[in-house]
Amino acid sequence: MQHFSAFTRIRLPSLIIKRSLSTRPIEVTQRSFANASNRTRTLAKSHGRIVVLGSGWAGFKLMRDLNKEHYDVTVISPRNYFVFTPLLASTAVGTLEFRCITEPVRGYSKDVDYHQALCNSVDLENQLIHCTSNLDDNKGEKFTVDYDKLVIAVGEYSNTFNTPGVKEYGIFLKDIKDAQRIRARVLECFEFAAQPGVTDEEKANKLHFAVVGGGPTGVEFSAELYDFITEDLSRLYPQLMEYTRMTVYDVSPSILGSFDQKLSNYATQKFERNGIQIKPGSHVLEVKKDVISIKEEGEVPYGMLVWSTGLMPNPIVESMMTAAKDPRTRRILTDKKLRVLDSKTMEPLKNIYALGDCATIKDYNLPATAQVASQKAIYLGNELNAALKSNSHVDKGFSFENRGSMAYIGSWQAVVDMRPVHEKATEGGHMAWMFWRSAYLSMSVSARNKMLIPMYWCLTWVFGRDISRF
Ligand SMILES: Cc1cc2nc3c(=O)[nH]c(=O)nc-3n(C[C@H](O)[C@H](O)[C@H](O)COP(=O)(O)OP(=O)(O)OC[C@H]3O[C@@H](n4cnc5c(N)ncnc54)[C@H](O)[C@@H]3O)c2cc1C
Repeated sequence: MQHFSAFTRIRLPSLIIKRSLSTRPIEVTQRSFANASNRTRTLAKSHGRIVVLGSGWAGFKLMRDLNKEHYDVTVISPRNYFVFTPLLASTAVGTLEFRCITEPVRGYSKDVDYHQALCNSVDLENQLIHCTSNLDDNKGEKFTVDYDKLVIAVGEYSNTFNTPGVKEYGIFLKDIKDAQRIRARVLECFEFAAQPGVTDEEKANKLHFAVVGGGPTGVEFSAELYDFITEDLSRLYPQLMEYTRMTVYDVSPSILGSFDQKLSNYATQKFERNGIQIKPGSHVLEVKKDVISIKEEGEVPYGMLVWSTGLMPNPIVESMMTAAKDPRTRRILTDKKLRVLDSKTMEPLKNIYALGDCATIKDYNLPATAQVASQKAIYLGNELNAALKSNSHVDKGFSFENRGSMAYIGSWQAVVDMRPVHEKATEGGHMAWMFWRSAYLSMSVSARNKMLIPMYWCLTWVFGRDISRF
């Protein structure tokens, strides 16, 4: 028996070898590493180290579910928190505060080791991953972590479709930092327009809020922004309301295209009644500072542009040549047990799994949603934990249970499409909104956030949204 009461870090050339954090006596198992003779490491737990890349829906859920008594669990992610994305748009306008939708990775278990870094490459042969720190104090510093099992859950990036200027002048809505930028930008636009000497034309240009992408994220953000403008900013800047407008651009013929047609129409009519312009069939050619160039309209001035047109592969996924990729989406291909497939043989690679937005199951394409990511994480957690107990466990492979989809459409209304559960279960309006809110409240993770979210909903209702600009 041996005590490991401290986190020990030994530096070797180009290699940092880690020992797991644990406060109780643990049996140490001797293991051989056939392909990694240059590594020495003391395993704290008999079933080895599982490294999880990413702290999103897939990685965070898996990290929580894994049996930490038997596995050393290490999470590597450039952000040390999980974001409850369905309510991210609410934080972008101050309906909720940012802290209501984040969960710290380290907050869940002292048995989870965490490193704030990006994984740059994976050495499958030696079971090593190469990382780069993204901490301010040692940004760019490289280190290496070894694994017994690797889980890739790095998500995807926002897709700009190579449209020039989007990265420079548009704002994505993927992370808390984006939501913070949006909130600051909306208030900047209003303060600019309120300054003396600003012409009417400048006011109208600055107060044009453009959303590119009419999927659930673009629609929910537009709805939240509409509420913010009509419920709070209209009270504070009444003289600017005549200059304020919102437009949703999309290449496809309608918004919420993945929803039941009736609900998509319902949302469209609701937006139109509220004065939010929807411009289907619009092709954005370029985004410049203060101007969007649209094929069908020419140059359109804007004050803030939020870009939400879908996803593209994470660079780490692109760089993994050994892993098979889906030809259309370029996501990592796995089998139904979520094992990554070899690009040459299409056989599962050893000890490496992929889930969440960055992966898709061969011949079983599922949407890139939190629902799929978390169900896959639950499945993989169960399988890895079950493997500890018995050899007779039969793994039937992952199967998705579709529980439908929902979207907020503004003014306390939502659309809920539950056709996968019951063929007639579609609803739009206030009842759907109540369902939307209660569903997301019940799905939020910690008890702290389950208390904070309704508290902030009430505070916003009584006092309005915070308009301080930090
Ligand atoms: C605004 C918004 C609203 C949404 N609403 C819904 C909804 O209502 N319902 C729904 O089902 N889905 C929703 N989604 C989609 C859902 O959030 C995603 O499908 C889900 O986040 C995918 O989970 P993931 O773990 O694969 O990726 P992510 O949650 O994106 O997490 C990826 C993680 O990997 C980390 N990472 C990235 N690169 C690296 C690297 N190189 N090394 C290590 N770590 C890395 C990231 O920092 C992050 O922690 C929404 C998405 C957004 C943006």
